Amino acid sequence: MIVMVIHKGADSVVLRVKEEFELAATDSSQKKIVVIGAGMVGASTSWHLRKQGAEVILLDRKGVAAGSSWGNAGWLAPALTMPLAESALWGYMAKSILDPNAPLHIPVRLDVKLWNFLLRFITHATDKSWMKTMKQLVPLNKMALPSYDEMIKAGVKAETFPRDFLIAFKNSKDVKGFIHEMDNVRKAGLEVNIEKLDDPQSVIPQLSKNIAEVYALRDQRFIAPGPFVQAIVDSFVKAGGTTEFGKEVADIVDTADGVEVLFTDGSKIAADAAVLATGAWLPKLAKKFGVKEPVQAGRGYSFSVAASPEIKNPVYFPAQRVACTPYQGRFRIAGTMEFLRPDEPLKPKRIRAIINSVKDLFTGLDLEDRQDEWVGSRPVSTDGLALIGATKNPKVFVGGGHGMWGVVLGPVTGKLLSEQVLTGKVAEELEPYNPLR
Ligand SMILES: Cc1cc2nc3c(=O)[nH]c(=O)nc-3n(C[C@H](O)[C@H](O)[C@H](O)COP(=O)(O)OP(=O)(O)OC[C@H]3O[C@@H](n4cnc5c(N)ncnc54)[C@H](O)[C@@H]3O)c2cc1C
Repeated sequence: MIVMVIHKGADSVVLRVKEEFELAATDSSQKKIVVIGAGMVGASTSWHLRKQGAEVILLDRKGVAAGSSWGNAGWLAPALTMPLAESALWGYMAKSILDPNAPLHIPVRLDVKLWNFLLRFITHATDKSWMKTMKQLVPLNKMALPSYDEMIKAGVKAETFPRDFLIAFKNSKDVKGFIHEMDNVRKAGLEVNIEKLDDPQSVIPQLSKNIAEVYALRDQRFIAPGPFVQAIVDSFVKAGGTTEFGKEVADIVDTADGVEVLFTDGSKIAADAAVLATGAWLPKLAKKFGVKEPVQAGRGYSFSVAASPEIKNPVYFPAQRVACTPYQGRFRIAGTMEFLRPDEPLKPKRIRAIINSVKDLFTGLDLEDRQDEWVGSRPVSTDGLALIGATKNPKVFVGGGHGMWGVVLGPVTGKLLSEQVLTGKVAEELEPYNPLR
């Protein structure tokens, strides 16, 4: 795979890998790292670790993008990458319990873990906490799109689509809250460029005339998320990375000279270090390494419909909390947040709730002719920040808990986390994300 030495510096040798990214053969090349979870976070981390010369094995109990990284909305929208808990949550929390069609669904169940999560989550639903978290998100949000470009330039064969995002309101009374939110994103340090559209149907003819106001949010992008993760893994494999799919990791144990990753079938792999990128399943393996922050599955649903003419721009309905994205010639409609366990089956009534909330917002879309119905679990932390970095065992790291934003923040997470795994240095931007907080 490695074919020639092209540069020799004081402490690094740069090697050319066949048509693929340049591999920096520093001390990292001595290290063997196992990454568990082949979603956007695990795939990006593996890619960066390999790029820095490490021997990397990427594991998944199922395969590439088998968790939340497949049917999501695929938005690379730094301006919308904000904390989930906001002061309005207090108002609609009660509605969420009583109304099964509400965009946020909380089951009435005696589930101690869930109620512990909710209690901690709701304490962050204040303006002060929102702004604090938003300011901690901004440095990563700013690096998010360049991190995608870096991967594409270095051989990941997939595209990002820069398009205006259309933010649509059925009732003008809902606009104020959104504009206020965008002002707060600006105050937190991120540029936001929005403009009211006079004729939104000239951009998307299928938008219903029932819609009162539409704004264009500029400078954001989207991707086809599942195929993008696959492209990262393909690039990683082409550069000499290894994958092993179809086996579930049961535990990680410390050994004198590294770690052992134990599978449920009794087999094991020895390595110098392990990275847990297991999405909504993170606490299962991470808890014993001192990661106390709960990560709850915030399950969302999506499906795709045909659109003629093809829809080229994403659409967001903030009041309905529905996100729509062009997806491989079709139109993907995604929404809802239900706090259930990640492995529970898809609930058709949640798909119906999405349809009911958008059916009078489009014309000429057959919402009954659906493909790819899907449920996936956003890994939601209580304070709106992901968990990225070393655990109390310096050979075990975590990257996860990105909630609604693990796709946009996956590559930057992989970049910064891989540096920490290989050098021990914690990037300043990652300090608030300490998994032991
Ligand atoms: C409806 C919806 C819309 C969304 N829209 C967006 C969006 O537009 N933009 C955005 O940025 N984010 C979005 N998200 C959130 C985003 O999908 C997640 O934050 C992101 O996919 C999380 O990635 P991950 O790699 O951490 O986890 P996952 O993609 O869930 O990957 C975890 C992997 O770990 C594997 N695994 C778990 N346990 C084990 C084990 N014990 N052994 C082996 N393997 C294991 C799983 O099989 C899985 O493949 C959306 C989510 C939903 C549900």
